[in-house]
Amino acid sequence: VVRTRALNVSFGSHHVLRDIDLEVERGRVVGLVGESGSGKSTLAKALVGMLRIDSGQLEVVGEDVARPRRAQRHALYRRVQYVPQDPYSSLNPRRTVGQTLAEAFDPRRGSVRSHAAQIARVLAEVQLDPELAGRYPHEFSGGQRQRIAIARALAIGPELIVADEITSALDVSVQAGVVRLLAELREKGADHSMLFITHNLAVAQEVCDDIVVMRHGRIVETGPVDSVFAAPAEEYTRTLLDSIP
Ligand code: ATP
Ligand code: MG
Repeated sequence: VVRTRALNVSFGSHHVLRDIDLEVERGRVVGLVGESGSGKSTLAKALVGMLRIDSGQLEVVGEDVARPRRAQRHALYRRVQYVPQDPYSSLNPRRTVGQTLAEAFDPRRGSVRSHAAQIARVLAEVQLDPELAGRYPHEFSGGQRQRIAIARALAIGPELIVADEITSALDVSVQAGVVRLLAELREKGADHSMLFITHNLAVAQEVCDDIVVMRHGRIVETGPVDSVFAAPAEEYTRTLLDSIP
């Protein structure tokens, strides 16, 4: 669902992504790891059409989006969902969770009443009490809001979810809950693919099928998560792994 070739992105004279060849196959959860500033978020934003690329090929859900037109970006919105680190920024504070989800299910006629069953189902899926559908985002904890953001992405039913550090702002126990949730969704055979960005290699190991290691704007290693972690080919990956407590 994602395929880039020699993708380059810079901000002014700051060359941030260098010749990125990334592939995310259908149904896979791919972890993107690397130290702060290595370009993970920049790559995520390039994939979801939030920034202009300098050169290279960029194909997402089968569409060539190297130079996306406005209409194309709009059409891709429901096929590709970006879940940012801070769930506040992706949830409308003036809408109840139920309203947000109803709209996610159907942007034209998303009434809470007509989508009640679907809303209850997706809330149950992220382990939130369906009774909470009438509440507003500020009435939830950070971990719950992150679940709501995930529920919203699931309700939209995209082919690709790009999740950028969605667990990093949460404390360790809440983080574990979100991670378990993602792992369970995968086991239940969720039919979307996911690019899962994290600082946390232990989280990556739990959630991901494949791993992509970035350093200084380049991909330095890729492969199935278990084999990369068991026997990293790159010295840098080994250094990262050694930093896991
Ligand atoms: P972190 O783990 O801290 O989130 P990251 O791997 O996501 O880091 P990016 O956010 O992609 O890193 O940033 C990579 C580099 O690009 C950094 O040096 C950053 O300063 C720079 N950068 C990112 N966004 C912009 C921007 N809009 N304008 C200028 N420079 C930017
Ligand atoms: Mg980032």
